[in-house]
Amino acid sequence: MARVALVTGGTRGIGHAISIALRDAGYSVAANYGGNDEAANAFKEETGIPVYKFDVGDFDATKAGIEAVEKDLGPVDVLVNNAGITRDTTLHKMTPDKWNSVIHTNLNSAYNCTRNVIEGMRERGFGRVICISSINGQKGQYGQSNYAAAKAGLIGFTKSVAQENASKGITVNAIAPGYIGTDMVRAVPQDVLDKIVKQIPVGRLGEPEDIARCVVFLAADDAGFITGSTLTANGGQYMD
Ligand code: NDP
Repeated sequence: MARVALVTGGTRGIGHAISIALRDAGYSVAANYGGNDEAANAFKEETGIPVYKFDVGDFDATKAGIEAVEKDLGPVDVLVNNAGITRDTTLHKMTPDKWNSVIHTNLNSAYNCTRNVIEGMRERGFGRVICISSINGQKGQYGQSNYAAAKAGLIGFTKSVAQENASKGITVNAIAPGYIGTDMVRAVPQDVLDKIVKQIPVGRLGEPEDIARCVVFLAADDAGFITGSTLTANGGQYMD
């Protein structure tokens, strides 16, 4: 039986590439998304991967969504906490809504999703949880106190849950991507983006597939000795 992988935000951008890479590696994949039905339907049409719409920032909706995935495909063996948003502005102008929406979607989501699969993983004695953090959670970023706090929080979450579950065949790791060419980064003004690319030693933005390959590596049985780590994939822009 193929292992089951749930990719949150799995229909666009980095998640899109992760879903396809896991499918190609032999997993039975479920791709979650938040609200863009058009993109999700196009993704489903293109890949044949089933899609599940639920808000990962909402505990009850996530619980119901994961129950639906498990009813259709079987217990989740690999969880990729990838869904994320940005609502950038400096702190002195940041509304509670901008703060809370980013914390809900980017950090509370990891609790909401992991909490709803971890007991099953513990019972079965196998699991892989992979959290997509960010370079900006490692170094901070002007205008992103909400996002950097959530992404740094994911790293602390990863290390804690890794310790709690290491003896149960479950690994929990984070990946900290640098700037990857997706809709999220295309929203950054071109002059700002040009300056960012100049700071990347390899001289280009990353591709979603650069991150997808990291996920496939960490999900594999062979990666069972790696837990609580943060895998940096940023073209050399920041060396933690
Ligand atoms: P995109 O904006 O391209 O895609 C985001 C995905 O997340 C979409 O599938 C979207 O669904 C989904 N999503 C958003 N909000 C929710 C929600 N509340 N519930 C469920 N799904 C939701 O983002 P990226 O691919 O660029 O980013 C993916 C992850 O990688 C994020 O966590 C991001 O922070 C992180 N990252 C990205 C970097 C980059 O340079 N792009 C760099 C470092 C980290 P829908 O289509 O319905 O909106």
